[in-house]
Amino acid sequence: MRSMEIRCVNPHCREILLVPEHLVGSVVKCAKCSQQFVVPFSAQKVWRLRIQPPPRRNAG
Ligand SMILES: [Zn+2]
Repeated sequence: MRSMEIRCVNPHCREILLVPEHLVGSVVKCAKCSQQFVVPFSAQKVWRLRIQPPPRRNAG
C-alpha cells in the first residue's frame, strides 16, 4: 500500500503527515496538533511533485 505526504492544515503546525492513499476524502487527525481535517484529493498529485526548496541566499 502506498502512502502520501500531506501537510497539516493548521498554519501554526504544518506538520507533514504520511497517510495511506485510501484515506483520501477521509478525516484524519494530525499527530502533532490534533487538528482534524479531510485528506485532499489533490494530495495524490502533490506527493508526486518535487517540492523545490526556497532559493538560497548568498551568505557571503
Ligand atoms: Zn498539525
